[in-house]
Amino acid sequence: MNATEDSAELIEVRPGIHAWVQPDGSWWLNNAGAVTTAAGQLVVDTCATATRARRFLDALGAAAGRLPKLAVNTHQHGDHTYGNSLLPAETVIIGQEKMREGLRSDPIIDGCPPFWAPVPDWGDVERRLPDVTVADALTVHVGERRVELRHPGGPAHTTGDLIAWVPDVRVLFTGDLVFAGLTPLVFMGSVQGALAAVDWLAEFGAEVIVPGHGPILSGDDISRVLDEHRRYYRLVLQAGAAGIERGLSPLEAARAVELGEFAGWADAERIVLNLHRFYADHHDTELDLIAAFMDAVTYNGGPLPTRV
Ligand SMILES: [Zn+2]
Repeated sequence: MNATEDSAELIEVRPGIHAWVQPDGSWWLNNAGAVTTAAGQLVVDTCATATRARRFLDALGAAAGRLPKLAVNTHQHGDHTYGNSLLPAETVIIGQEKMREGLRSDPIIDGCPPFWAPVPDWGDVERRLPDVTVADALTVHVGERRVELRHPGGPAHTTGDLIAWVPDVRVLFTGDLVFAGLTPLVFMGSVQGALAAVDWLAEFGAEVIVPGHGPILSGDDISRVLDEHRRYYRLVLQAGAAGIERGLSPLEAARAVELGEFAGWADAERIVLNLHRFYADHHDTELDLIAAFMDAVTYNGGPLPTRV
């Protein structure tokens, strides 16, 4: 176990509400969590590798002492779902309809392409899909505690996003609709949709946000981070429109972007992936994932660093 792995932390943000935060939140290092009462437990997301998922579930079991009756995946990406198979066999997993289809057809769990270095090894995980799917909204009752699972209404981070809202304590698990202090990623969703989802998230009036990546947010940090997302998505929209007008490729358009206040964020090369999404939507074509990642690697000057 190295220092980075050691620093993953289970934080009880409100009584019975846990967040599992994995610094530094860059590629494949996600956050997860759980809602626990005397009646049971709902787990929110797992982790990318068997080792990391087991570490999360062991820490949660030691702290909260309940077997997870239920789990929800906030979206299809492997950092939030590959560890599903580490959950007890009895756990009922919930996901958005498109999320289930996305994980079913995800090739990366079968072998990670060399877009990252070192190439992640997921360990002993199996593709485990949701048992229950949701279109727009589902309310889960964990004993007396109500947890509202909601879809933003269209593509945002992905096509199958769900948030988990715990209204009595105003805690919002956003999944990857929020990357706190890291470059947001929307290449499998929609730039415009992700921008609209920021306003949608703000309307919950959360006191605590557990983002998909990065530190837990409360107080003034919530509106600050949501505003950063708005500015970043507007930058992508502007750069995409300018790139198309000038006849640039997505990679050329990305290289023309002055990242400014966002230049210091981890995973800055996501500007390339996000512009590929903008271009695909503008031209009404499918996004070519391989081409998009090859461009991101070129922009970065080599494979994307990961510490998963
Ligand atoms: Zn994601």
